[in-house]
Amino acid sequence: MDDRAMLLVVLLGFLTPLVRSDGVPGDSRWTRYLDKIEKAVSGHRPCESQNETCYYRVLQQDLAPFITGISQDLMDNVLSRKLGTHYQIIKHQLYREEDCMFPARCSGVEHFLLQLLPDLPDMELVINVRDYPQVPRWMTPVIPVFSFSKTSDYQDIMYPAWTFWEGGPAVWPIYPTGLGRWDLMREELSRAADLWPWENKIPRGYFRGSRTSPERDPLILLSRGEPGLVDAEYTKNQAWRSEKDTLGRPPAKEVPLVDHCKYKYLFNFRGVAASFRLKHLFLCGSLVFHVGKDWQEFFYHRLEPWLHYIPVSQDLSDIRELLQFVTENDEEAKKIAERGRSFIAQHLWMEDVSGYWRSLLIAYAKLLRYRVRHRTEYRELSPGPPHREL
Ligand code: UDP
Repeated sequence: MDDRAMLLVVLLGFLTPLVRSDGVPGDSRWTRYLDKIEKAVSGHRPCESQNETCYYRVLQQDLAPFITGISQDLMDNVLSRKLGTHYQIIKHQLYREEDCMFPARCSGVEHFLLQLLPDLPDMELVINVRDYPQVPRWMTPVIPVFSFSKTSDYQDIMYPAWTFWEGGPAVWPIYPTGLGRWDLMREELSRAADLWPWENKIPRGYFRGSRTSPERDPLILLSRGEPGLVDAEYTKNQAWRSEKDTLGRPPAKEVPLVDHCKYKYLFNFRGVAASFRLKHLFLCGSLVFHVGKDWQEFFYHRLEPWLHYIPVSQDLSDIRELLQFVTENDEEAKKIAERGRSFIAQHLWMEDVSGYWRSLLIAYAKLLRYRVRHRTEYRELSPGPPHREL
């Protein structure tokens, strides 16, 4: 081939849209990602309920270390470590030790327990309402402690976070009493999504939140360099002391989650543990960019990369390429966003949250190998007015 013929071949390679195996014109640069989407779609199995929850696999896994039973000795071991708040359910009444490190979080948990009392057998359990899990994998014996989030390095038993009802972070002035009431948020977000259909959304990455983990820094820095690509800024949280806590700039104004819906690409990151924002972002009908995959909540495993969201590496090294990919493949991006939205809309109702609590507690109670002795000094709990996160 002479030089001119060679040049022609090279030029044609650039100019001719390639045709994928399914006959859809494509661009060879994106074949890798398009294949991942195709594979995710064809391998997907819908969420089928087992024991009244489609998240059953998680509770089976979390309870597996206790399959031979939880003895009185093991429970005494847990209680001596003071890793959480001790609850007892006896004859369909709920009792609690006096101390709770975060009263609004305990109240958010108790909302579900109180609601389920008629269905629950006698049991006792320790619920950790701190952010961080408490049972590292190296710990022997493995002890039963309930935590809302963990990584594979921990053996805590995951429960639906308090924030589904109340006790989430208080963000002034947008959520002064703390992020909560998932049932109401679902409705608000759904209305916001309707106001901002895909075609009208601003095609830019978006993030607002505080610096609960420095893993968020690369996105903030990218936004400072290329605001047309990504709009990401740090807001204050209660631990804010100086501009150092917002990466050398003044804190940005807080933006309610419903106002995130006007952007096409929404970022989620871990914070101290999993961030409560993830479930909200899906309901905007925007495309979720989920950074890292270590931190889990009870429902995360059903959200599949490339099917419901775009997975982003923890160091964000692939971020530019991924944003370019979704911009150039808008139809595919829209479909992922729609699948993400409809998954959360269909499978994360408040009833799914209580349903998970019910299945989890019934399965857990079966593992207790002793009769729970009622601690008469404990307070009996009944539904009360909402608490405020301080
Ligand atoms: N948040 C918000 N708008 C803001 C700042 C925060 O809606 O301007 C929400 C955010 O989505 C999350 C919660 O407030 O659900 C706490 O966010 P933060 O980044 O402080 O902590 P995280 O829990 O994500 O680590």
